[in-house]
Amino acid sequence: FQVPPAVNEPIKSYAPGTPERASVLETYKKLYNSKVEIPLYIGGKEIKTGHTKSIRPPHDHQKEVGTYHTAEKQHVEDAISTALEARKKWAKLPWEQRAAVFLKAADLIAGPYRDKMNASTMIGQSKNIFQAEIDSACEIVDFLRFNVEYMSQIYEEQPESDAQAWNRVEHRPLEGFVYAITPFNFTAIAGNLPSSAALMGNVAVWKPSDSQMYSAQVIMEVFKEAGLPDGVINMIIGDPEMITDTVLASPDFAGVHFTGSTNVFKGIWAKIGQNIHNYKTYPRIVGETGGKDFIVAHNSASPKVVSTALARGAFEFQGQKCSAASRSYIPKSIWPEVKDLLVEDIKSFKIGSPENMENFINAVIHEASFDKLAKYIDQAKEDKDAEIIAGGNYDKSKGWFVEPTVIVTTDPKYTTMVTELFGPVLTIYVYDDDKYEETLHLVDETSQYGLTGSIISTDRYAASQATDILENSAGNFYINDKCTGAVVGRQPFGGARNSGTNDKAGSKLNLLRWTSPRLIKETF
Ligand code: GLU
Repeated sequence: FQVPPAVNEPIKSYAPGTPERASVLETYKKLYNSKVEIPLYIGGKEIKTGHTKSIRPPHDHQKEVGTYHTAEKQHVEDAISTALEARKKWAKLPWEQRAAVFLKAADLIAGPYRDKMNASTMIGQSKNIFQAEIDSACEIVDFLRFNVEYMSQIYEEQPESDAQAWNRVEHRPLEGFVYAITPFNFTAIAGNLPSSAALMGNVAVWKPSDSQMYSAQVIMEVFKEAGLPDGVINMIIGDPEMITDTVLASPDFAGVHFTGSTNVFKGIWAKIGQNIHNYKTYPRIVGETGGKDFIVAHNSASPKVVSTALARGAFEFQGQKCSAASRSYIPKSIWPEVKDLLVEDIKSFKIGSPENMENFINAVIHEASFDKLAKYIDQAKEDKDAEIIAGGNYDKSKGWFVEPTVIVTTDPKYTTMVTELFGPVLTIYVYDDDKYEETLHLVDETSQYGLTGSIISTDRYAASQATDILENSAGNFYINDKCTGAVVGRQPFGGARNSGTNDKAGSKLNLLRWTSPRLIKETF
């Protein structure tokens, strides 16, 4: 049995006048005016608990587009026991049949559900259609398809046997259930974290971000239509601490698949430690957390290449990517040109709500994020060692809008050079050309995170110095490109230090974390 080799889902253009643009806009308008009511999903049942919260688009916070029901402790316990019940059959199902479910889900998203996935991501997470298409159409489909290919490779690889003894490895799922916790910023990650574990035969309790509920529900709809048996993935939402405490108290907790903040992940790790004597097995802990990602330019770089990498790396997706460029180091000799080009680029960015497809910058996710960004921007206006050269304004009257902002600092350890802001704010430090190597060491020393980074240089020796000195500063390192936009199947994604366990999303390595292999030696 062989699965077809995975191919990346082609990105549609949504150019003005195309039927694709008209169609997604129609779905957007329909959803905008129909109030959805999102239940919990436990054992395939839709549970309405009666405790609801509003869903409001970040770009239009007075408008309620739906509600979601929140879980009590009992619901979390039900989700766990239902998952364990479902495990009895799911874990035994031949892998080809599990693969079929997720390949079908991929086809549903690429086809009939594409508009709904994109429109719900545009509304709920404030992404323009081009961002939504990359995330909630292409990347999620790529995860589903490539994971099946990786899984088939895992199952195919077998140890040597001979005439006397036959050795085989069975990739059993973990004994228990997996807890998937997913972030608001990528619908694709939300789909991938529970499904990659489930693909390997595990059952999951999935807690999406409450800022991503609108598209999370569409993912559940798709999985169900694709034939995912009841109880294999159970979606619950509610007080995060209560949910996590309840999940981690279960002796059947077998692993966590997490994307989110560094602090929350460390908190989970610590709680797992406290509970370690209660578990049947050592839990797998897989997490992708924060980033303070960099772009370093060498003086051999073309100013245009540098400014484009900065504009795109820092401001696409409102900078709400773990991988977004949020600090940069530019040599003095090329800075004036880079600065002019960057400021010009930023002036051309239109800001507003995603139904106007010309808006490149949409709203940041919620008030807390808006307030945090506003605070750091205001601080930079006060500080002597910082200067704002682009943006610097924000407006929350209708939505959580923050202008793409560039701060230039004379202090390479200035707060916004080292603090993750998760928004459209880039800080730049201009260095003396003859201090290139020193600057690389400085970048490394200030990298508490280690997710992504770039070197832009046409001088090969300089590029290799950066690759060498920054060896632990970025799990995804880019030469002559922005530090974002890893494509499933091409650039497996993840980093170490405070950025996570570096189990590369979209790779065989990641799927291997969700199996507990059994070696069987049979003697003839
Ligand atoms: N994979 C995405 C990228 O390379 C980032 C994912 C994230 O923000 O977690 O840009």
